[in-house]
Amino acid sequence: MKFATVFLSSILSAFTIAELVHLPDVIIPKDPNYKQPPSSFAKFDAKKQAAHQCATQNILNALPNGFASTSRRLKNDYYTSPAVLSNLTAAETVNAPIHKEVQVYLNIMHLENGEGNYDDQVFWKQIDLLNAHFQGTGFTFNWVGVRRIQDNGYYYNLQAGSDAEKQMKETFYMGDKKVLNFYTGNFAQYNGWATFPHDYNYWQKRDGVCLHRDVLPGGKRENYNNGITGVHEVGHWLGLYHTFQNGCNPPGDEIDSTPPNPDPTHNDPNFFNTNGCPRNRDSCIGGIKVDVSNIMDYSWCRDHFNTDQLQRTMDVWWATRGA
Ligand SMILES: [Zn+2]
Repeated sequence: MKFATVFLSSILSAFTIAELVHLPDVIIPKDPNYKQPPSSFAKFDAKKQAAHQCATQNILNALPNGFASTSRRLKNDYYTSPAVLSNLTAAETVNAPIHKEVQVYLNIMHLENGEGNYDDQVFWKQIDLLNAHFQGTGFTFNWVGVRRIQDNGYYYNLQAGSDAEKQMKETFYMGDKKVLNFYTGNFAQYNGWATFPHDYNYWQKRDGVCLHRDVLPGGKRENYNNGITGVHEVGHWLGLYHTFQNGCNPPGDEIDSTPPNPDPTHNDPNFFNTNGCPRNRDSCIGGIKVDVSNIMDYSWCRDHFNTDQLQRTMDVWWATRGA
């Protein structure tokens, strides 16, 4: 009988894990002193203004030197603590994809009139894209919880490094360093930003990904509504840098096989040489073109990580978020 009970409860817990939990809606009373942002902020016009892609870089201040592209370089160049070394040794010994289910929590900021809110179906498409693009790493992304938060302040003021970001994350962050927290809202020109794994040591609850609601799959931001921005930001969350990190200067993005990229691709016709999907851009190495469709650039045609980038996500996971 006892055996049967244990068996039954394990089945139930398996079902619980698979099911998306809708956390209670949160309605934050409007602050009487709240000032609506200027319309140029609140109503971003993609045809008139160039979108700023990713604010991840802007919030990196007191960071260490960064990661290297292989476990061996991680070990030699950066990590020296015995605990980290033992993790890396395990990763190198196993020499196989890890099987790591990453639980995902989503916080949707929206206005009283519903602006910013969306159906679960939209985010399921984002999850499918994550699972497709990180295939081969052993990571699977399992969406386990969603919370809808009505608040003008968070919805409009959620800029990287802002007080609103800090307050929101301190309030709604879920889980630990192995859990991926997503937040969506209106970030004006910015498409999104993420924290790096090593940021966790400085400020635990900031860990996660912020996405403009218009860059979700099927969103309104032209050229950036295919869900790849979400994949790009999760790339940062797993330890990847932009392919144009440090421009032509070493260590670049610390991935030897991505050609060093002098400039980000733009979403602005004023940068006519680097706008959209310029497939013939020269890298910093003579005769080699920029990998313009790499997900860690900004182009309209982003569609892949390379195998060394995927390997790095696993190495960094072992070194930072743990086995
Ligand atoms: Zn980025």
